[in-house]
Amino acid sequence: MRIVVQKFGGTSVHTRELREKAAMKVKEAHEEGFAPVVVVSAMGRKGAPYATDTLIALAQEEFPEIDARNLDLLLSCGEIISSVIMVQALRRVGLRAVALTGGQAGIITNRSFGDATVIRVEPERITKYLKDGYVAVVAGFQGVTEDGEITTLGRGGSDTTAVVLGVALQADYVDIFTDVEGVMTADPRIVPEAQILKGLTYTEAAEIVQQGAKVIHHKAMDVAREYRIPIRVRSLSDEGKGTLICDIQTLVREGLRVLSHERPVYSIAYRRGLAQFRVGFGGHPELKLRLFQALAEHGVSIDLINLFPESTAFVVDERVKEKVQTILSREGFLFEMTSPCAKVSLVGSGMADRPGVMSQVVEALRDAGIEILQTSDSHVTISCLVAEKDMEQAIRALHRKFQLDELC
Ligand code: ADP
Ligand code: ASP
Ligand code: MG
Repeated sequence: MRIVVQKFGGTSVHTRELREKAAMKVKEAHEEGFAPVVVVSAMGRKGAPYATDTLIALAQEEFPEIDARNLDLLLSCGEIISSVIMVQALRRVGLRAVALTGGQAGIITNRSFGDATVIRVEPERITKYLKDGYVAVVAGFQGVTEDGEITTLGRGGSDTTAVVLGVALQADYVDIFTDVEGVMTADPRIVPEAQILKGLTYTEAAEIVQQGAKVIHHKAMDVAREYRIPIRVRSLSDEGKGTLICDIQTLVREGLRVLSHERPVYSIAYRRGLAQFRVGFGGHPELKLRLFQALAEHGVSIDLINLFPESTAFVVDERVKEKVQTILSREGFLFEMTSPCAKVSLVGSGMADRPGVMSQVVEALRDAGIEILQTSDSHVTISCLVAEKDMEQAIRALHRKFQLDELC
């Protein structure tokens, strides 16, 4: 049995018309001889009645004291509703289909409500339905603990559902249907001339999503990379083929090896909602250990860390900035905070050992009148912290500077 997992994001199942299009994609896969397994997200975005954001807003407005277990139970309903509705759409195009919750689909997680990790998949129930000729429609973004509690997998987690099912079922492909044509040189909502990256290796795609491109959930990408399961990122309206993420040999065979090491950068990603802290040690360099210990003791995750003998700078998620301010004040540190900030990252394996990339970054942002607050780099990334208000302009300036609109 050749299996394909087809995941439809919230905007791809928002209206009846879109669900009909999605059903036709499933039918096409069925006609090509695949046994399709469908994964759905909650329908629509904020404001739509059963969207995840709407359910979160309901909880925040009506009962902010809700505990994590019950919040997950509430949020899981969005995807369950979607799965039942999708089954009806599939029946209308003549397919036999059955809706399953994440737990019924055999997705077993740990107990980290709100951001649970899949520890095991028991795919037997789905396999049985497939053998009986049914399309299994699985509610994304959720699983169940060993003792039967419903959990959710973190925002964007339906991608993870799709990939872990793809691995467990040894699917040929995991198709991620979303509201853009594929993985692109930048978010096309910010850079309208962004180009589709037609073929990416697992490592290249993982680098882009790790830097914040939410087109695929980073946990899903990590699993896909580890188990080497090919992903196709596509849109419902796709005339082209979207992005194929797989190993380099397949990309070469398919003629999709478009990235070249001639080119230092192939994508620009971003992460907004950050706060930067600059902390001085006041002539007591031994305090640096105390600083990082205090943050660790309070479970604060830090990023973009620059450490100097007399000072340090780092960023945190803006949602914990008050907590960090309190910790630093209590410990007696002198600090300055800048917020909101955003991290704009250039990604490209061709930048390693190549002089001049940073000078182009600095020139592009200087010409755009944007101040760089901090930087960090690895052999395949250069990240610049900028004020959040400058983020979109910075992305566009860098996209132009590295001529990413001419990539394909
Ligand atoms: P879904 O609801 O289908 O899971 P998401 O909103 O999670 O969709 O992800 C798709 C969005 O990712 C796009 O609408 C786009 O704004 C954003 N995005 C960010 N970076 C990129 C990129 N490099 N390529 C394509 N899309 C991107
Ligand atoms: N509905 C969930 C969210 O909005 C999961 C997903 O869409 O992947 O985060
Ligand atoms: Mg998503």
